[in-house]
Amino acid sequence: MIYVVGLGPGGEDQLTPRALAALGRCDVIVGYKTYIDLIAPRFKGRKELVVSPMKGEVRRCEDALRRSREGCTVGVVSSGDPGVYGMAGIMLEVAAGHEEVIVVPGVTAACAAAAVLGAPLTHDFAVVSLSDLLTPWELIARRLEAAAAGDFVICLYNPMSHGRPDNLRLACETLLKTKSPDTAAGWVRSAGRDGEEAHLTTLGELAGEKLDMFCTAIVGSSATKVVGGRLVTPRGYQRP
Ligand code: SAH
Repeated sequence: MIYVVGLGPGGEDQLTPRALAALGRCDVIVGYKTYIDLIAPRFKGRKELVVSPMKGEVRRCEDALRRSREGCTVGVVSSGDPGVYGMAGIMLEVAAGHEEVIVVPGVTAACAAAAVLGAPLTHDFAVVSLSDLLTPWELIARRLEAAAAGDFVICLYNPMSHGRPDNLRLACETLLKTKSPDTAAGWVRSAGRDGEEAHLTTLGELAGEKLDMFCTAIVGSSATKVVGGRLVTPRGYQRP
């Protein structure tokens, strides 16, 4: 049996009881160092904790499958939700026809960041990752254009890293082709973890902000506004 478990944004208080119970049933837990570190205090000495390297995703799933077929209950951990830019898809592909895989959801960064900023996702929203490691930039830009054309609130995952310092600026320039620079926006670093930071801004200003891989940015729709210092997209309840 393999559990693919979402740990939520970081803090233990955002790990769901179901995720905790699934991890409790595992003999072996594998994941990136950051995520293993998050759960180590609770499970060290009681479980085999296996740190696996970045970019070793397929190998990690093959190892998980092998351990499972040897008779272990295996947990593969992702931050946030494992089905949102996480390990669930690749694990299901690798294990198909061999082993049962149970996906345990978690609080994804968009929801964690939105809650810190206020309530920007109260209406239709789109989620776009700016990582062009596995997706060509042309496709990312096309999706940003479509989300802007649809006037969605837009959550940006993987906004920046050392390898791609210009992606956030390029994304903002793409959105600015149709959206106003005054569009309300915000970003959160380390939502739900130590060092959490939240910033309100505008789409025009966001292009120049120094975000990193621990940040999620949210760009409002034309209806999104700042209310009492919080970012809010009205649901429409107050319309006559
Ligand atoms: N499966 C994860 C996403 C992994 S992609 C989820 O559902 O949340 C990695 C990106 O997620 C980061 O670059 C960042 O944009 C976002 N992210 C993950 N944890 C975060 C946190 N605690 N605070 C802000 N953004 C976070």
